[in-house]
Amino acid sequence: MAKISINLKEGKLNKQEDLIIGIDLGTTNSLVAYVKDGDSEAYAIKDKNGTNTLVPSIIHFNEEGKILVGEAAKKQLEYAPARTIYSVKRLMGKSFNDLSKITDLLAYRIIDEDDDSLVKIEIDGKYHSPISLSAEILKYLKLRIEDNLQQEVQKAVITVPAYFNDAQRQATRDAGKLAGLDVLRIVNEPTAAALAYGIGLAQEDERTVVVYDLGGGTFDISILDIKQGIFEVIATNGDTFLGGDDFDRTIIDYWIEKYALDIHEISTNKTKAQSLRLAAEKAKKTLSSQSHFEIKLDGINLELTIETYNSLIKSIVDKTIACCGQAMKDAGLTPKDIDEVIMVGGSTRVPLVRQEVKRYFDKELNLSLNPDEVVALGAAVQASVLAGKQKGVLLLDITPLSLGIETVGGLMDVIISRNSKIPTSLARQYTTSIDGQKNLKISVYQGERDLVQYNRKLGEFILSNIPPMPAGIPKIEVQFLLDADGILVVKAKELRSGKEQEIVIQSQYGISEEEMGKMLLDSIKNAQSDMTIKALLEARNEANNIIVNTERFLKQNNHWLGTENIEQISQFLQALKDVTQKDDKDAINQAITEINDFTAPLAHQAMDKAMAESLGGKGIDEID
Ligand code: AMP
Repeated sequence: MAKISINLKEGKLNKQEDLIIGIDLGTTNSLVAYVKDGDSEAYAIKDKNGTNTLVPSIIHFNEEGKILVGEAAKKQLEYAPARTIYSVKRLMGKSFNDLSKITDLLAYRIIDEDDDSLVKIEIDGKYHSPISLSAEILKYLKLRIEDNLQQEVQKAVITVPAYFNDAQRQATRDAGKLAGLDVLRIVNEPTAAALAYGIGLAQEDERTVVVYDLGGGTFDISILDIKQGIFEVIATNGDTFLGGDDFDRTIIDYWIEKYALDIHEISTNKTKAQSLRLAAEKAKKTLSSQSHFEIKLDGINLELTIETYNSLIKSIVDKTIACCGQAMKDAGLTPKDIDEVIMVGGSTRVPLVRQEVKRYFDKELNLSLNPDEVVALGAAVQASVLAGKQKGVLLLDITPLSLGIETVGGLMDVIISRNSKIPTSLARQYTTSIDGQKNLKISVYQGERDLVQYNRKLGEFILSNIPPMPAGIPKIEVQFLLDADGILVVKAKELRSGKEQEIVIQSQYGISEEEMGKMLLDSIKNAQSDMTIKALLEARNEANNIIVNTERFLKQNNHWLGTENIEQISQFLQALKDVTQKDDKDAINQAITEINDFTAPLAHQAMDKAMAESLGGKGIDEID
């Protein structure tokens, strides 16, 4: 859809080409980039002040119901954590069952309606889906580039991690739709990173590439085999809870111990905790280019040298190298086989990270592009390829997981195997197992296990009106069509009767326009919130925080607390855990008061001990 405008001065028609933008929708930060007309280089768009290309992937709902995104929302994390949503990418395309392990780690409230439905987040009695929240980030990015270029934008390429499954890709695509974007392609992040460096753009390019991506909270390593414009992900590994935040945490723990900082105050006073966290991040960033860091906080001089810092983070960096080793093993490669190593993510600025990755692969690293921007720049390159601006380039991806259907006995019958090049279409024939069988249920799964119960169910449908025939006679063709984004359509047809019946199945986690409208309506309807549910959820949230803090307190202080105290605290903890499972907010609050009353004096003692230790310069064991 090209737009036409009139140049009044010259009396000529101007034809403005449709711009396709590239978006990196990240866990911590997101960015938007594009390739200028007549240029082959990609640019990331900065904020209004022209300083920052990163948009924190954070959404805040203020008390008037206004939505803030990015830096403005980040500022609210400290003051209004329950109304400020971060890390929404971790929730994309996930059901509550998928998330039971991580909900305790999030300060906001995740709702489960029934265990297989998609998660929702509750704020002021309104329910928000990860899709609609991600759409807010995408809208913000869309506006940013439209303001900057003074041009309307409708088409986009969005990146996702290589390991994202169909549901997560669908969810990302739907978020784009909801933000008013026509998502032309969902691209794997490592593919984008390679493209940003121009790797794989020429058809004759044959390269094996490692993309090492260490962000704020996640680590991914991907190995790509690039041949004739095809980007095949041959192995992925990583840790969804490992990143720069862990570096910050080790610095905080080190300072708490070295300067005997008041643990109780830090764990209860959010402002104090936040300023300590910010100081630690500042130390980390400073030590990426200098050898010493010093800051005064509440009258205490906090110091950190590069040597100490390196020893603090060594085990974290080692973990990432172990993941690299595993991925290499899975791919059947040795470091000699690798042609390029690309560094992605803010945390790859850490000198020790660079040193260890370089040492492991025994190769110079690709560091020339800003590691925060690489993925978005690559998405923009892919966009310009799609816009036909880079002639002769055809980029294809690969499906990361096998797709198939359930057959007798709960077995997985793979139709499209993992690592197939996409787009692709494959069909297989099945039949009935009972005489005169009229209906056949087709359940679609994704995964590598032989039994479907261990794989992920994408959806199911019933092929009905099969003409009555003896068992084994009907010929039912099931066809899987996987488009270039890795999105799946399944069709079924009874061939023998000649009577065509065709059903198109969407992933159960994908949403149609209609459902999207309903979702928006629902969020409005739920505005008259059920106050009882809200109070209960808040009590549970607080209880969960206290459980985490108390368990930490027990762990850090168990050497002096004594068996009696430990037992008593453990009992209170168990009681609180039990009551949190129930729906009685008063009982939860009562259990909170009980545990708090008991632990408060002990927390004071812990503080006194820490003080005595720092003044006397003695080890804790000696005091005891
Ligand atoms: P990303 O998720 O890729 O945006 O990465 C953000 C992470 O990179 C955060 O943990 C930042 O603290 C970290 N980071 C940003 N700049 C630096 C730097 N100069 N040195 C070390 N870490 C950094």
